[in-house]
Amino acid sequence: MMSKLWIAVAAVAAVTGHAYAGNLVKVKYQPATTPHEMQVKHLIEQSGVTTEFEQVIDLYFPLDKELRLIYGGREGPLYDPQLHAMYVPYTFVGEALNYFLQDREQKLAEIGAIDTLMHTLLHEAGHALVFDNRIPILGKEEDAVDNLATLLMIKYVDKGAEAAINAATMFDYESQDGNEFYDYSEYIDEHSFELQRYFSTLCLVYGSNPQVFDELLDEVEEESLEDKQDTCIATFQDIDENWHHYLID
Ligand SMILES: [Zn+2]
Repeated sequence: MMSKLWIAVAAVAAVTGHAYAGNLVKVKYQPATTPHEMQVKHLIEQSGVTTEFEQVIDLYFPLDKELRLIYGGREGPLYDPQLHAMYVPYTFVGEALNYFLQDREQKLAEIGAIDTLMHTLLHEAGHALVFDNRIPILGKEEDAVDNLATLLMIKYVDKGAEAAINAATMFDYESQDGNEFYDYSEYIDEHSFELQRYFSTLCLVYGSNPQVFDELLDEVEEESLEDKQDTCIATFQDIDENWHHYLID
């Protein structure tokens, strides 16, 4: 599970001479308050997702100071720039697990929930990266850090492209919960619509390797599929190049 990352550690050190900083993330697990939260807390702890997340941050994120990751509580997932802290409630992961359990057996549902968590951790850490480095965002910051999370998973997480597809599936589940029509306020929201987040994530995965993921965008109407596939290849290249202006490597 970790082998790809450790090879990356060696490669970065060898190529750039950049020291493996380590320990940029300070993790805290708040007590679980219900049996379901306890189950989710255990799932997070034994999955190894936090360690893998920490390794990506340590390797690629130029952060000024320690980033705190606090599991539990009611608020979140969110990043608080004043405290330079990320908050991820157990209930968020629990809800993801319940969505995946609708059509997967337990083990595969757990993988779906943990992959969703990884995308969320990298998304929130993306806000920290933007804040810490005063990165100019010309558009929706939420879209920018969604793209960053997907990019990092594809490139630096073991089986990360498949995991990003799971994270996209979560956006699809959430979109099915919405009303048939959006409120006007939702058109002004800082986030794109769930179904847009679903397709944007799939678009980057497709664009990263069109041969391997050749059927990934097949839900798109046939008359525009080829056009969108070409766009996604170009988009992935742009996102990859542009984010690397702000990443270590
Ligand atoms: Zn966000």
